[in-house]
Amino acid sequence: MAIDSYTTRKKRTFLYVGDEPYTTKDGRAITISVWEAKCRFCRAPYTVTAPGRRETQTDAEYLAFLDKSASFGIVHCEKHRMKKKQAIAAWRAAGHDAQRKLSRDDVLEIRKLLSKGHRPKTLALVYPVSVSTIYQIKYHQSTYK
Ligand SMILES: [Zn+2]
Repeated sequence: MAIDSYTTRKKRTFLYVGDEPYTTKDGRAITISVWEAKCRFCRAPYTVTAPGRRETQTDAEYLAFLDKSASFGIVHCEKHRMKKKQAIAAWRAAGHDAQRKLSRDDVLEIRKLLSKGHRPKTLALVYPVSVSTIYQIKYHQSTYK
């Protein structure tokens, strides 16, 4: 059976686009899989890549393997990952108050993304808050409201 989509534990669904050949830094030819989702802010489609499926992996094994990939923690298109001004505008357009503190769900998601290796600088652009706020969430979890 072919896998045509993958849904994360956060209930975000990525559609399987296809496989692409890829050459690693040490020169090995491997296959990566390409997945598409819609930006949380603007709904534009964006893609992420993950390791390709091995011939020996069953559907269940491969999906469990994808659960460990940090790629699926990305919830925004390239634009909203990178441009703070646009991210703030979109944040407001989505009904959020830019002056308000992050919601509890936001904080929980930021912690999860940090635990998956996302950099505070990147998360600060996405949410958008100051980098120090992200570090506050990272190192003072019990005291952050
Ligand atoms: Zn976007």
